Amino acid sequence: MSEAVFREAVIDLGALARNVAHLRQVIGTEHVMAVVKANAYGHGAAECARAALAGGADWLGVADLTEAMELRDAGIAAPILAWLHDPDTDFAPAIEAGIDLGLSSIAQLEAVAAARRQLVAQGRLHGQALVQLKLETGLSRNGIPEHEWAETFARARELEHEGDIVVRGVFSHLSNASADDDAAAIALYRRGLELAADAGLHPELRHIAASAAALRIPDSRFNLVRLGIGIYGLSPFTDRTSADLGISPVMTLRGRVAAVRRVPPGKGVSYDYTYRTPRETTLALVPLGYAEGIPRHASNRATVSIAGRVFPVSGRVAMDQFVVDVDDEPVSVGDEVVLFGDPAIGFPSADDWAEAAGTINYEIVTRIGPRVQRTFV
Ligand code: PLP
Repeated sequence: MSEAVFREAVIDLGALARNVAHLRQVIGTEHVMAVVKANAYGHGAAECARAALAGGADWLGVADLTEAMELRDAGIAAPILAWLHDPDTDFAPAIEAGIDLGLSSIAQLEAVAAARRQLVAQGRLHGQALVQLKLETGLSRNGIPEHEWAETFARARELEHEGDIVVRGVFSHLSNASADDDAAAIALYRRGLELAADAGLHPELRHIAASAAALRIPDSRFNLVRLGIGIYGLSPFTDRTSADLGISPVMTLRGRVAAVRRVPPGKGVSYDYTYRTPRETTLALVPLGYAEGIPRHASNRATVSIAGRVFPVSGRVAMDQFVVDVDDEPVSVGDEVVLFGDPAIGFPSADDWAEAAGTINYEIVTRIGPRVQRTFV
């Protein structure tokens, strides 16, 4: 680990690359897309994208074009797909940057084709805009609804014929609600692929699975899987740990004890006194709070590790800090506190924090805020 700093997320890029390599081998698809949206689930987008590519991913996935352009600006030339767009998006910069546009409507197709024609007229582009059509198969979010598939495929084929676009992919996304729901969505997606073929579209990429389905449902794999949570070493399942899946958590969140105080029995701790010391004890102050993304709901529930021992969060998590009751342990100002990391080496896990906060591990890592320094090792 690097030298201790006040608040730090240590990001193990070697672990990330190994997770990708392991998942790629287990899942066995032709293509693996590393999903690095939301600052790579809080881990640092450009650094994680490079590590994922080094580990064997050949695609990157993000939600929006700002994220996609940030990766290009960081010098990353790998294929990138972005699938969520503002209604007024100017697609021209992304087309010029060779970003694949995940599209959910004819209106978006027309906007992309118009932007591409303008770029060509200005002499800024010679090739086509790269498009992947997103089908709604049951999640009720974006994606082309089933009753518009035939018309959208026909228009996409025309625009391909006119040289404006290339339909590189047809994809969808699963709800993971139940095995039956996923099977129904996959069957519907297959019908969409057949209809696309009938319309004369021959997408090179076919994908519907994220981490959970890719690991659990071989039938969902097609020729690409989009892996998010798994590459960060966290399990998408509540009944299987990271270790069960052969992956290791990439983020270790830590800070340094900012103050230590010996207090008498009955001392109220933090806002609202939701914790009172049961005996004379030592309280240690940890300089991370909900401004850093530490869930307030984990007050009095989560644990942290100091010098190899686990202690409870005592009292309310505040904006910048929380307190732990370290009993009679010899904890000193400046000692390292690990909030979560790899449970295989004795740290509380992001899953433990998720359980304490009534949420999922995705949210625990993704919400870690900008005041926390990311240190890449
Ligand atoms: N694909 C899409 C469209 C997503 O929105 C996400 C994340 O939410 C993923 C893939 C990755 O999902 P996971 O982190 O479960 O692998």
